[in-house]
Amino acid sequence: MNGIPHLTLDLDQPGVNRGHLVVPGGADCEELWLPVFSLNKGEGSRLLITGGCHGDELEGPIVARRLIEWLPEAQTCGRVIIIPVLNPPAVRAWSRNTPIDGLNLNRVFPGSPDGSVTERIADAISRLVLPMADTVFDLHSFGLRWDFPPASTTHPIANADLMAKTLRMAEAFKLPVTLLWEHNDTPGMFDTWAHSQGKVFVCAEFGGGTVGSEALAIYEAGVRNALIALELVEGKAEYPIFRQRKSSQTLETRSSDELKSPAPGIFEPRCSVLDEIEQGDLIGILHPMDSLSAGSIDIRAPTASVVCAVKSGMHVEADEAVAMLARPIKF
Ligand SMILES: [Zn+2]
Repeated sequence: MNGIPHLTLDLDQPGVNRGHLVVPGGADCEELWLPVFSLNKGEGSRLLITGGCHGDELEGPIVARRLIEWLPEAQTCGRVIIIPVLNPPAVRAWSRNTPIDGLNLNRVFPGSPDGSVTERIADAISRLVLPMADTVFDLHSFGLRWDFPPASTTHPIANADLMAKTLRMAEAFKLPVTLLWEHNDTPGMFDTWAHSQGKVFVCAEFGGGTVGSEALAIYEAGVRNALIALELVEGKAEYPIFRQRKSSQTLETRSSDELKSPAPGIFEPRCSVLDEIEQGDLIGILHPMDSLSAGSIDIRAPTASVVCAVKSGMHVEADEAVAMLARPIKF
């Protein structure tokens, strides 16, 4: 059936239900069937958890699958809807963007029923699933190219009340970093759209190489902490241990806090995430490789800050981001 996105399950039905969100086919591909899990235990928070928006960020889908295993026992009230994979073609291709139309699902919200496949996915989610929730956790990863601490993130929101609620929700994950993240490339993001609909929307981000058991445990603990804060499950929230530390800090980063490479070459990181640095401290070294007569270039911190992300040792282009700095948030 082409044309109309639909659900094969009734999200209002009590108890556990499993089914699919069917995204209509089009000229570019057949219809897509996205597995959906619903657990309705009546009054309480209404939470939507999504993963696999970007196909090369796989912690989220794994954590979402784990939740589906233990939530039926643990959830005491409210409603949880889980879609582990929002973008199946991208996950199958291990690609950030959808390989069929080259679009980034997280830049096309609220989507379009007549658009290409990525826009049709966004449209189906916007119309059929998002209205069922008052809170959304979208599980992402920072990816292989970066070292990034486990973090719950949100962008600045014009509505002060929603901003405060969203930051409180993000802090409830008790991950090492809660990040208020200003960047310029936000039109069409899932969170921007959800915020415009008055939803509390928090992204979880996670970085550093391949999917590992330690990282997954921290990620899952963070989501569990947030479920406890929403009173969907009982238990005591605990700070997960990350690199021998058991702590949490709320930071903000602006577009201007991104450090760029001054030239093409291999970037050598000289700091670690969560390092507290002074103005002038060495962040990394850029080694030009085209000519050995050009010296290596030090990249230094412009201000006192906390290292929030640092690019893995890799070849970068001129003006490519190599680090993100942040500072404790001031209200
Ligand atoms: Zn992502």
